[in-house]
Amino acid sequence: MEETRTVSAQWELSTYKFRIEGGGLQLMLEGMKEGKFRGVRCHKCGFVYVPAPFYCRKCYVKIHEPVEVGDHGTIMSYTVVMSDIRGNPMEEPQVSLMVKLDGCDSWIMGTLMGVGYRAAREN
Ligand SMILES: [Zn+2]
Repeated sequence: MEETRTVSAQWELSTYKFRIEGGGLQLMLEGMKEGKFRGVRCHKCGFVYVPAPFYCRKCYVKIHEPVEVGDHGTIMSYTVVMSDIRGNPMEEPQVSLMVKLDGCDSWIMGTLMGVGYRAAREN
């Protein structure tokens, strides 16, 4: 039996450095200024990417059809960060996660903000 939990929290993207190919970064940043997530859809297979790459990683064709996806999503994977980059214990563990936004097929990484690890576990 699968258990589903809902965690309401902000999602901090700025703690990560994204390596996004040219136009994909611009598309994503322009959308974020308006509070939206934008990516591209592959015209061949329909796969939706956020952030947008130059080509479909499944079909190897150039893609450029912009799409808007939801600002909610499903946590596909997560890990709890207990120490900083130097190995020092953190005051409060952080939850780093991979999210599949509604209407999107790729995953994007972020850090769960406003809900500590312990609170998220108890939720
Ligand atoms: Zn494709």
